[in-house]
Amino acid sequence: MVKLQLLIKAELENVTELVPASDDFEYFFQVQCNSCHEIHPKVVALNRIEERELSSSRGAANFIWRCGVCKRESSATFDSSPPKPYSEENGGFAPLLIIECRGLEFIGFDPRGIWKCKGTESGTLFPEVDLSEGEWTEYDEKSTLPVNISNIESKWVRA
Ligand SMILES: [Zn+2]
Repeated sequence: MVKLQLLIKAELENVTELVPASDDFEYFFQVQCNSCHEIHPKVVALNRIEERELSSSRGAANFIWRCGVCKRESSATFDSSPPKPYSEENGGFAPLLIIECRGLEFIGFDPRGIWKCKGTESGTLFPEVDLSEGEWTEYDEKSTLPVNISNIESKWVRA
């Protein structure tokens, strides 16, 4: 088993505390088999709530994959701590989440889906930040400032 940590980085204009909007947020990851190093042809979707039974009946996991090439079953389970809101204070990559992997490794992250964030000065809550296009722009009426999120990057490291 290996614990992987997903780090994200983004440019935030007048907003902070960027984090997936709900517990059932679908994370889209690129996944690679540890046995034969095959990369799944598509990004896979998983969330923190849904669990599936392992075929070995040794418990459950949030994600189970049988590799199309070597046929080995691998799985992944989110760490119990909730995702960490991202703020740009340190200007670099910051940890979003940790996931325990057995037999696979995640190698990519597509941030599509609904996130939320807050106005830095105003505290205005933006509950529907759609990052499907990789960029989001709104207007904060309370602070009378434009708000924007862009240049999202991510990387996986060993936790
Ligand atoms: Zn394989």
